[in-house]
Amino acid sequence: MRPFRYARATDAADAVARYRPGTAYLGGGTNLVDLMRLGVAAPDQLIDVTGATIKGVFTLPNEPGRLFIGAATRNSDVAAHPAVREFYPMLARALVSGASGQIRNMATVGGNLLQRTRCPYFQDTSMACGKRDPGSGCQANAPGADTENLAILGHCESCRATHPSDMAVALTALGATVHVTGPAGDRQIPMPGLHRLPGREPERDTVLEDGELINVVELSPETFVPPPVRQAYRKVRERASFAFALVSVAAAIDVGPGGRIGAARLALGGVAHAPWRCHYAERALAGASASRAAFEHAADAELRPARPLPGNEYKVRLARNLITATLEELVTPGGAGPSPGKRP
Ligand SMILES: Cc1cc2nc3c(=O)[nH]c(=O)nc-3n(C[C@H](O)[C@H](O)[C@H](O)COP(=O)(O)OP(=O)(O)OC[C@H]3O[C@@H](n4cnc5c(N)ncnc54)[C@H](O)[C@@H]3O)c2cc1C
Repeated sequence: MRPFRYARATDAADAVARYRPGTAYLGGGTNLVDLMRLGVAAPDQLIDVTGATIKGVFTLPNEPGRLFIGAATRNSDVAAHPAVREFYPMLARALVSGASGQIRNMATVGGNLLQRTRCPYFQDTSMACGKRDPGSGCQANAPGADTENLAILGHCESCRATHPSDMAVALTALGATVHVTGPAGDRQIPMPGLHRLPGREPERDTVLEDGELINVVELSPETFVPPPVRQAYRKVRERASFAFALVSVAAAIDVGPGGRIGAARLALGGVAHAPWRCHYAERALAGASASRAAFEHAADAELRPARPLPGNEYKVRLARNLITATLEELVTPGGAGPSPGKRP
């Protein structure tokens, strides 16, 4: 590890004022410190922002379902909050499906959103990776590369990596708004929209500019259909815990009288460089009758542009089956999907 300076910022303005090139903000450190040990990240200054950004989940008395989640809030506290469980059970589910209890007790909301990819070539400094070393290419394009857990949607020659956060997939389906503050002032970024596809700048995971700090994540019933619409987060992984998603889905569906779908919200994880909002599937579902055939049709509409790599073709079928099974579960009376208010 290279030597670095450490400072604790007192508030967001202090953190931003201390920022300069070579600085990294520090949340719980569960990802950044690992990357420093691996030699993937080498900041010369860490600014601890756990006491500088907002901490806790806040509700407004007359607006049930509008939540403000501070960036310094620990993942386990968000998952356990009664308002999150009542109004956004898919978010609670997504959080508890990630990492381990100990890591969730340390990890913050800001750090979770900005954690880096688990692509094996990004984490191995002996391999080419344009995300780690801009312009150095992408080892995943080499013949025989390990692509099993890489992207099937939105990837290109510059980068085949996937985004790792479960929480971000739920926030993408829920249409959250991320409040940031930075050298140029404050702004709000809708999700999807925070994370980006690799394009010509695979080194940029998000649209954040240098020095911008996440302060709060807002969830609003205006951007989402609140309860009694049923929600679920399902994740397929290699082990039952402590494993990132091969594919995950965050889903909510509103079925009206006569079995017609009013609206649906869907996002996929483990398939792209960003959490993948399923606009094609949502459009295919709106107005259709809730049936397995409609769910399969919607999944096919979403996955038609998929371009699997040699070695991860299985993800297309997995994503199709996961979307279909999750939606079926949500519309089945007494199905296993979580009802609002139930403990995740
Ligand atoms: C063994 C293991 C298994 C895991 N499994 C999963 C899993 O299944 N699903 C999952 O989603 N995650 C998983 N994780 C990842 C874990 O969720 C992240 O490490 C954690 O959420 C990061 O939060 P942190 O506060 O520790 O971030 P840090 O490590 O402190 O920071 C991460 C990044 O965010 C930046 N940052 C932090 N806070 C802010 C802020 N407020 N504003 C701007 N930038 C900021 C940092 O500069 C850094 O670039 C796993 C981690 C481990 C070690």
